[in-house]
Amino acid sequence: MEKISQRRLETRVVEDSERLAVQKENLADESIDYFDVEKLKADFASYNQEKERIDRAPFWRNLIQDKRTRTLANEDRLSAIFYSYKEFSELSDYTDEELLHPHVTKFLWQTILNSQNPYIIKLKSEHKENFFEVAFLNLLKSETLPIEVWLEILQDYKNLLSESDRKIGEMAPKIHEQVADDFIERINPDLETKLTREQILQKLQDSLLKIKDPLIYKNSGTHTPVTKVTRVNLNQDILNGIITPENYHTIAHENLHCLSTGQILEYRFPGFDDDNNPKTIVQRDAQWIGLNVRAVLDSKFNWLNEALTEILASQLSNFPPNSYQSERELLDLILKNGRKQIDIKILYNAYFEKKGKEATKGEDGHKFWKKFRAEIREAYDHDPQFLIRLDDLIREKGLGAATAILKDWDPENPVIIETRSTKDEKALAEVRAKLNS
Ligand SMILES: [Zn+2]
Repeated sequence: MEKISQRRLETRVVEDSERLAVQKENLADESIDYFDVEKLKADFASYNQEKERIDRAPFWRNLIQDKRTRTLANEDRLSAIFYSYKEFSELSDYTDEELLHPHVTKFLWQTILNSQNPYIIKLKSEHKENFFEVAFLNLLKSETLPIEVWLEILQDYKNLLSESDRKIGEMAPKIHEQVADDFIERINPDLETKLTREQILQKLQDSLLKIKDPLIYKNSGTHTPVTKVTRVNLNQDILNGIITPENYHTIAHENLHCLSTGQILEYRFPGFDDDNNPKTIVQRDAQWIGLNVRAVLDSKFNWLNEALTEILASQLSNFPPNSYQSERELLDLILKNGRKQIDIKILYNAYFEKKGKEATKGEDGHKFWKKFRAEIREAYDHDPQFLIRLDDLIREKGLGAATAILKDWDPENPVIIETRSTKDEKALAEVRAKLNS
C-alpha cells in the first residue's frame, strides 16, 4: 500500500450536484457507449487503403494488440472470442465453459441469426439451422468471414444493448418504488433508526439503472458509488421488458450499496505521471459503503460488506441469496464461534448508520459499528486486534485462509492470527487511530 503523507493530502467533500454532473461524463468509461463500430470501420478502411492485397489476419491481430484506447477494449474481446475461443479463455478470466454460457454467447448468436446481411442470409439458406452455426464458426476460425459482415454484426449487437439500456431505464422508477416498499416492510422492522420512503426514493432516484454487456462483465450486477450508476447484466427477460425475481434480487443488492453509501470525498495528493513528472493526483471515493470502511488507496472489510449486502438483499427481495457465499459463510462462523454469540442485527443497524468522519463524535454516529467492534472484542478477547488481523489476513491470503482458521476455532484455545503486519505494532496503532477517528 502506497504511503501518503497526511500533511500533503488535501481532502474535501464532493456535493451531490457535482456527483451528478460527473455521472454523465464518466458513463462512457464503463458503458456500452465506448463500443465504437464507426471507429472500427474507419480503422479498417485506412488499413484497406494501405494494403493492396488484403490479409485479414494481421488486421485482427493489430486490433487485439492495440491497447492504446479503451475504444478497442470491447472489440478486442469480441474479435478474440470469434477468432480464437481457446486463446481468449486463456487471456481472460473466463473459462471455456463460461464463454459458452448462454448469457455470454446468446445475444451474439441472436444477433447473427437475425442478421439481415445478404452474406448471412445466403449462408443460412445453404445450411440447416444447426449446421449454420458450425459453418459460421468454421468461417471465423479460418478467418475467411468478410470483415464488413462482422462489423455489421457488431453494430446490430450494439443496437441490441442500447435498446435494452433504454428499456431498463424506463422501468427504473417503478423498480425503485418497489424496493422502497419492500425495504419498509422487510428491513425497517430490524432497524433502530428506520429509513422513510422519501429518504429511500431520494437516494435511489438520481442513481442510473443501466445494462452491462455480458461479454465484458462477469458478475451479475455492479454499483459505482461515485457516479451512482447501477448495472445489471443483459438477459432475455430484461430484453422483453420483464424483471424476474432473480433480476429484482440483483437490483436490490446493488440498490443497498447505493442506500448505504456515505459522503464522497475528493483527495488531492502529490504524485507522478507516466513520464515521471510531478503531478497532483485527484481521487474521489466514498468514505464508507455499508460496512466497507475506505480511505485514500485503502479499503477495509469489503468481504463483510458484501456478505451483509447479500443477506439484506435476500431479505428485501424474498429471493434466496445467490452471491458471496464464502463471505456469508465466514461471517456466520465469526458470529457463532467466539466466546459469545453476536446478533447479526447489530450489523444490520451499523450498515446504514453514519461512520468515519461523517459521524459526529460523542453523538449517536457509528454507535452500532462501535457496538459490533466491542462484541467482537468480547467474543475474541485473546486479541483486541482480532478483526483487523482477520481483515489483513483476507487481503493477504484470501477468504479461504480466514475460513480455515475460524472453522477449527476453539474459544478455549484461541490463536493470534499471523499476518505480515502482526508484529508491526506501529502500523496497527495507525490503523486503529484511523478507524476510530
Ligand atoms: Zn455487492
